Amino acid sequence: AEEDDPPMPRHRVTTKGNNVPEHVETFEALRERYNIPSRLLQNIAQSGYKRPTGIQSHGIPILLEHRDLAAISPTGTGKTLSYLLPVMSALGAPAASSKSNPGSGVRALILAPTRELAHQIHNECLKLAQGRKWKIVLFSKATAATLADKKVREKIDLIISTPLRLVASLQAGNLELNNVRHIVLDEADRMLDAEFLEQVQEVIAACTHPEVQKAVFSATLPANAEKVAMSMLRDPIRVVVGLKDT
Ligand code: ADP
Ligand code: MG
Repeated sequence: AEEDDPPMPRHRVTTKGNNVPEHVETFEALRERYNIPSRLLQNIAQSGYKRPTGIQSHGIPILLEHRDLAAISPTGTGKTLSYLLPVMSALGAPAASSKSNPGSGVRALILAPTRELAHQIHNECLKLAQGRKWKIVLFSKATAATLADKKVREKIDLIISTPLRLVASLQAGNLELNNVRHIVLDEADRMLDAEFLEQVQEVIAACTHPEVQKAVFSATLPANAEKVAMSMLRDPIRVVVGLKDT
């Protein structure tokens, strides 16, 4: 279906797939429809975001309904929040003051091609996580070293990483990903390119939970990468955002 009434006038949004969830015009509508934690919305408002961008307005409902997604939207259109909000909503809402962290191990995984990008995603994630006590780990050599202790890794809720270091920990037997419910590939054109593909596939293979949700986000998705993406995704929805005058 084509959307003739995009939420941001600059953007034209096209969606393709089975039973595509209806997009939202406001962040508040997400609360009405999906009952996402109000603290997340507060943190979004705190960031000064007034209304969802095109990819957020379409992508967030799709991910909240636990569908697989291939999202193609230009640089600077807010792809990060499009996946962070649903993922963090799904983590549940232990208050910072609560001692009852579910602690069922890593439940979400965000992969990015560079340390720099992983770092930016982590920052955005921390803003959104304010007031919550999720254990969010920006994977590094130092954090990898702490994982030899099973108790440490069982406390982690969400990991942001480049693929290589994650693969190293998996191979060392220092990381279980069998409870992961959400995998996101950011800058998927690079993640699915020859440089990273094998590592990405190894990580995905370690995420053995039958209900794992997969999403890929990119500014562009060349035909090759798109083919690989579609073979990884289950009953995917494809969302493409184009700048109107390009
Ligand atoms: P992309 O990954 O698509 O290149 P980012 O997620 O890095 O885009 O977001 C680009 C910029 O837009 C960031 O500075 C981010 O804080 C900001 N941003 C994201 N969502 C919104 C929104 N709904 N309203 C206003 N600014 C936003
Ligand atoms: Mg980005």
